[in-house]
Amino acid sequence: MADFSAAANRRAMESALEHVRSQFGHEYDLLVGGERIRTTGKLRSLNPSQPSEVVGVHQKATPEIANRAVEAAYAYFSEWGATDPMDRVRKLLAAGRLLREHRFEFDAWIVYEAGKTWPEAEADVSEAIDFCEYYAREMLRMSRPQPMLQLPGEKDEMRYIPLGVGIVIPPWNFPLAILTGMTVASLVTGNTVVIKPSSETPTVAARFAELLLEAGFPDRSFCFLAGSGSSIGDLLVQHPKTRFVAFTGSRDVGLRINELAAKTQPGQRWIKRVIAEMGGKDAIIVDAGADLEKAVEGVVASAFGYQGQKCSACSRAIVHERVYDEFLDRLKKRTETLTVGPADDPANFMGPVISDAARRTILQYIEVGSKEGKPLTGGGPAPGDGYFVQPTVIADVKADARIFQEEIFGPVLAVTKARDFEHALDLANDSQYGLTGAVYSNNPEHVREARERFFVGNLYLNRKCTGAMVGVHPFGGFNMSGTDSKGGGPDYLLLFLQAKSIAERVTG
Ligand code: NAP
Repeated sequence: MADFSAAANRRAMESALEHVRSQFGHEYDLLVGGERIRTTGKLRSLNPSQPSEVVGVHQKATPEIANRAVEAAYAYFSEWGATDPMDRVRKLLAAGRLLREHRFEFDAWIVYEAGKTWPEAEADVSEAIDFCEYYAREMLRMSRPQPMLQLPGEKDEMRYIPLGVGIVIPPWNFPLAILTGMTVASLVTGNTVVIKPSSETPTVAARFAELLLEAGFPDRSFCFLAGSGSSIGDLLVQHPKTRFVAFTGSRDVGLRINELAAKTQPGQRWIKRVIAEMGGKDAIIVDAGADLEKAVEGVVASAFGYQGQKCSACSRAIVHERVYDEFLDRLKKRTETLTVGPADDPANFMGPVISDAARRTILQYIEVGSKEGKPLTGGGPAPGDGYFVQPTVIADVKADARIFQEEIFGPVLAVTKARDFEHALDLANDSQYGLTGAVYSNNPEHVREARERFFVGNLYLNRKCTGAMVGVHPFGGFNMSGTDSKGGGPDYLLLFLQAKSIAERVTG
């Protein structure tokens, strides 16, 4: 990741912001079967730090165009799926190189369209680069002959082949990384894809689509289909030629996709595969005797980094009663040092939340939570033209409270007192989600117990619960957090492939 304390990087970022700003309001096309398309309906993405600014103007794909996109992707699949995997790997490495070259420009698009601060945007772009590098090398592994036992008199082999047409549906909160991960995993394994980006961040996605073309991916290997999920999503998922759906987003949309994909359509020849990564209600446990300074830093970074809009964000701090009061005191002081304002100003630790609708939902939760617990700090909108919300902490929250159970997806932290470590683990596991979790403890027995009992896909010990790295922390959650696909891990590409076993009689 670029270090913005270095003057050269700061200057590069400033000039990228200026360059990107000069392209505000540009109109982007849909891309279907190699054809660029414009529609009468338009979708405008706004700068959440300054919503009077239009970042990009996009086409709204209609159901008819969506149908055409799946057909076009299907028509090209047999050709693309038969290409040499090495060729696809080379294209993917080229995409990674191009992202590296244009990293500050992508940072700047993310700052303006998603409201990420410089370091958060840089983390997003770095993760996208890592996905390209990692999945390219993983594909080398998957395309090698797989080691099989050999039956005497036979030549026995197993090889991986692609599935077909994939629908890629990413969220806005990692507008580049998650989009890139799901798209390139599909393409490098030989599938064709229809990309349906989030309506909040279509410009980042359109820029990425152009980069794929520049890297050498054929314009028929993917379709770029901006448009509203509620008007074309069902059609894309239900289309009989759709073979799989790679989705990341909210629980409710994920469950709907899963249900629709399970229903066989006339003419459909396969069981659709759904890869769905969904929400979280992530907890950090602070044990008695833990280093409270480190624990507060970890909780604050996890709860308020990118305004709490990460699926991995800490939204519940569960604190041992022996250190509860001191923890709250330190947490309040630290939270009140956080600066909130436009994301392009590097002086701000927090930028805006994504939209006016998101801000309203978050403020409603704060109102509910203020009755369910004791407001400690924050509690309302922050000043400015953007969708700013104060970092908010609500203490003494009980396990049956809505703000303890429901995903808020904003800078709101519930703090709950635990009688002892066992109780803290029970509270942490009292959730329909199971994505990330962390424990701050210097008691080896408690750390061991957390390894066994803390039921989350990504467990962190004595560190924050956000910031998973590709190849290091394969990412994906349990229960209602999704299908545990473990993006950035060695099992991920298998989700985009099927295995063919071939046995040839060679003697007798
Ligand atoms: P969302 O509202 O579920 O939207 C996600 C995507 O689904 C968007 O592209 C959206 O398009 C599309 N969509 C909406 N309705 C659809 C339908 N009926 N059929 C098909 N697609 C449809 O989620 P979000 O607000 O973008 O993202 C935040 C959520 O994502 C949070 O719950 C967060 O926890 C989760 N998330 C999870 C992970 C993880 O790895 N587990 C990572 C990041 C985020 P439109 O924008 O056009 O509506």
